[in-house]
Amino acid sequence: MTNTLNTDPSCLFCRIVRHEIPSTPVFEDEEFLAFRDIAPKAPTHVLVIPKAHLAKLGDATPADAPLLARLFLAVAKVAAQENAADYRLVLNSGERAGQSVFHLHVHLLAGRSFGWPPG
Ligand code: 5GP
Ligand code: ZN
Repeated sequence: MTNTLNTDPSCLFCRIVRHEIPSTPVFEDEEFLAFRDIAPKAPTHVLVIPKAHLAKLGDATPADAPLLARLFLAVAKVAAQENAADYRLVLNSGERAGQSVFHLHVHLLAGRSFGWPPG
């Protein structure tokens, strides 16, 4: 499993985890933090992150499997807490996919209808 002390001093989301940058948290436990996106793309737009730094899903190894499974359970828990019956999850891995913050995060979007395919 990824060491929970794994942190990158220059990473924006690691800095949010360490409360060096303010956020609006909606859920937190030992392993995960969920907070509202600063530029929401839906009425509910929450980012769910592991506290441990992992730049992107593409860097995950089999050792990260339990953490990744728990990450999705945490996302579902946050969705329920936000009263989101239907929701869209987005996980951008890599620049061309639209990733701009290189600390693994799942976008939880809800409160409106979503089209397919995504842009
Ligand atoms: P990505 O483009 O990497 O998939 O998503 C990064 C997300 O982080 C974007 O939706 C962006 O609005 C959000 N974001 C960037 N900087 C901050 C910040 O300082 N605080 C919060 N809460 N969200 C941020
Ligand atoms: Zn980080």
